[in-house]
Amino acid sequence: PLKIGVVALQGDYAAHAEALRSSDTEIVSVRETAELVDLDGLVIPGGESTALLKLLTRENMFEAVREFAAAKPVFGTCAGCIILAKEVLPPPQQSLAVLDIIIQRNAYGRQIESRVAMGDCAFSGGGLEMVFIRAPRIVRAGSRVEILARYGGFPTLVRQGNILAATFHPELSADRRIHRFFCAMIRGGQPCLSPGVQMGNLG
Ligand code: GLN
Repeated sequence: PLKIGVVALQGDYAAHAEALRSSDTEIVSVRETAELVDLDGLVIPGGESTALLKLLTRENMFEAVREFAAAKPVFGTCAGCIILAKEVLPPPQQSLAVLDIIIQRNAYGRQIESRVAMGDCAFSGGGLEMVFIRAPRIVRAGSRVEILARYGGFPTLVRQGNILAATFHPELSADRRIHRFFCAMIRGGQPCLSPGVQMGNLG
């Protein structure tokens, strides 16, 4: 089975663990650097990115996660996506800078404006439900960033090599296409484009 870690310091890590659980996966709650060692992939969940950043730093995991992301697949959602971004606005916040995007925090408005919406995606099977909770917005994506889903004209699911990131919470929807795609990324071991990544041609 694939050994997939979920950073379990803050946020909705339990929902990700549930979404990834299958006969083919072993899920590990990651709370310290040593637990990263033999993982095949890692999820950084949603929550609150400033709090998560503090905890990662306190546990000496910030550099270790950056090194992990240089070598193996990492999937960040919402706050996790903010942590992966090259640049965070506003105000600027430290991040791992392993994904060539500029991201604006809380860009879809206040808590009360959080919403469930249908967006367009590159996966076969049509539209994708997206749960936005005080979601960030990807305001710029570099040329090596593939856009796998969109909502309201902005990218909401992107991939660069072995890094996958969503501004919404796929673990809170019943649709498992994204988690399956992440597992396929891990199995493929391809740090760059894989044949499945054309629009309309994703499992
Ligand atoms: N608003 C949060 C932040 O800026 C992210 C929200 C989420 O992860 N659902 O970190």
